[in-house]
Amino acid sequence: MHRERGGGGSKPKMDRSSITTATTSRGGFNNNHKDRSSPGNSKISYPNKKPSKGEESETDSEESDVSGSDEEETSWISWFCNLRGNEFFCEVDENYIQDVFNLCGLSTQVPYYDYALDLILDVESSHGNGDMFSEEQNEIFESAAEMLYGLIHVRYILTTKGLAAMLEKYKNAEFGRCPRVYCCGQPCLPVGQSDISRQSNVKIFCPKCEDIYTPQSRFQDNHDGAYFGSTFPHLFLMTYGHLKPQKTTQDYIPRVFGFKVHKP
Ligand SMILES: [Zn+2]
Repeated sequence: MHRERGGGGSKPKMDRSSITTATTSRGGFNNNHKDRSSPGNSKISYPNKKPSKGEESETDSEESDVSGSDEEETSWISWFCNLRGNEFFCEVDENYIQDVFNLCGLSTQVPYYDYALDLILDVESSHGNGDMFSEEQNEIFESAAEMLYGLIHVRYILTTKGLAAMLEKYKNAEFGRCPRVYCCGQPCLPVGQSDISRQSNVKIFCPKCEDIYTPQSRFQDNHDGAYFGSTFPHLFLMTYGHLKPQKTTQDYIPRVFGFKVHKP
């Protein structure tokens, strides 16, 4: 049911197994629910993580260093942000997510909140025995995690760190460019038409013509606009005022046989 959050469009469910770069390097929840039953498979290991994540990670990381030394573990956040179509999302600082103050009010908005949060933070679920979860349940938790991440994301990108993270993406034109000819490939910023979930999908805002457009990739187009919010691009351009381009002065003039079309 949570899949429909993007405004009706059936989001192409990106199977982690299809994302070679992210999946191969990630031994976490990806295969977790499938592999938990196999006795030879150790629990999730996070060699790059702080030991405070949980006692298990300390012991597990040693195992993984031996077994998969050439593979680097990827966090759920990195994995999610590197999925095709998720280019608009920046990686939210885990410290931000771990501060409960920043998540205020989200527990009532996201189903299976605790599981979703554990998934995002790569914490071995403390809310039940993971072995009990079916494939379908894991998919539901995954959807909930995506929703929770989006709702955290919209808050994070308005913080100093979040704005800086989005700045890097903007510099690389990762949000796409304005399709309008007279904007000359101006990089855009993601924007939501509403701050309420499931109202409309994400759009891109052009700072030059100050109009919004549908993202060119149908994968990007599938994200809820509320995961970016109506404030972001404008706060971004206020924060980084030097990046604000001059408003476009050129307008397209329709002509018939070279004559301007008369406007009544
Ligand atoms: Zn434009």
